Amino acid sequence: MNPETVTDAPAKQNLLDLDRRGLEDFFADTLGEKRFRAHQVMKWVHHRHVTDFDAMTDLGKVLRAKLQAHAEVRVPQVQFEKPSTDGTHKWLLGMDGKNAIEAVFIPDKGRGTLCVSSQVGCALNCQFCSTATQGFNRNLSTAEIIGQVWVAAKHLGNVPHRQRKLTNVVMMGMGEPLMNFDNVVRAMSVMRDDLGYGLANKRVTLSTAGMVPMIDRLAEESDVSLAVSLHAANDELRSELVPLNKKYPIAELMAACQRYARRKPRESITFEYTLMKGVNDQPAHARELARLMRGFDNAMQMKDAAKVNLIPFNPFPGTRFERSPEGDIRAFQKTLLDSHVLTMVRRTRGDDIDAACGQLKGQVVDRTRRQAEFRKRLDAQASADGADRAAV
Ligand code: SAH
Repeated sequence: MNPETVTDAPAKQNLLDLDRRGLEDFFADTLGEKRFRAHQVMKWVHHRHVTDFDAMTDLGKVLRAKLQAHAEVRVPQVQFEKPSTDGTHKWLLGMDGKNAIEAVFIPDKGRGTLCVSSQVGCALNCQFCSTATQGFNRNLSTAEIIGQVWVAAKHLGNVPHRQRKLTNVVMMGMGEPLMNFDNVVRAMSVMRDDLGYGLANKRVTLSTAGMVPMIDRLAEESDVSLAVSLHAANDELRSELVPLNKKYPIAELMAACQRYARRKPRESITFEYTLMKGVNDQPAHARELARLMRGFDNAMQMKDAAKVNLIPFNPFPGTRFERSPEGDIRAFQKTLLDSHVLTMVRRTRGDDIDAACGQLKGQVVDRTRRQAEFRKRLDAQASADGADRAAV
């Protein structure tokens, strides 16, 4: 055999990397087939979870042979999965032999939400998030993002339009989705496509720490629900908790949220606020947040244009933060409700399997060396604690 033919053979196209438009182009341009054939393949892959072209029985033999030669459906590898006592299910998915990410399914009355990761690790370094301690390695491909939905849908026996187990997707796993814009937008298009997972636009939510220019791009290119991780209503505190705030302070962020909401009538934005004991959970913080949210409602001239989701802090090893006491959480919520701000407290789920917000870690080959710094800090803290104990 001529070795050159081996090295020159073009890599097979992973069909999970393509949305409907991309797949139609691939069928027309690369395979010389009719565009609508792409639709049949999408249904096999996303509705029936079939990855073997030979099992796609309504495709002709010739087309199946072409697909074998030029394409593949490569899904993430399940390295480990863990059901929680409360019905939550977590998957550790291998991405490239070295890195792994996590996806979490959270069933609730009449709905099932999948929390999806967008990057291996995260570059933003938010102080209270355990993904941050892992450092950052790389963006996930479209295939790796939609692959998380594929794995969960297969496990659940989800059939779009009929046996709907998976009703919502939130881009709230590892990573900052707006830092991986194109791949995330493409994956979200498959989530909302009837030939994909058939989710309504408002049931796909992108959560961002506040990448202002990308919020504007999202408004132009996609149509999903937006959630913004706020965590503080003044710049001084927010810059400390979410360093990205130094670049895009609150006023700019709120203006971008207004522009996003304006593109559609009756569009609301969810503001996430993780409550940390003594840090951002005091009555003055609640009043400040209420003012900011009311300002948003007024600017939009709409009641409940801003919704608040309070997330009790989920601890992880080595963190200096603590969860706010229940009474403080209720008081914080009451202050907001009394100011007519629609406010929910997110019940913590999957606690026993470290699957709650901010606890997803996966396995990151850190390119930012942040993990090493974090370990050093932990060690220093441990020896200081030891010294304290010795002194007592
Ligand atoms: N980077 C995106 C999406 C990932 S985080 C973003 O920042 O929005 C998903 C949500 O969980 C965010 O609101 C985040 O701030 C919150 N979160 C992070 N760490 C947490 C923790 N330890 N406890 C509770 N919520 C946390």
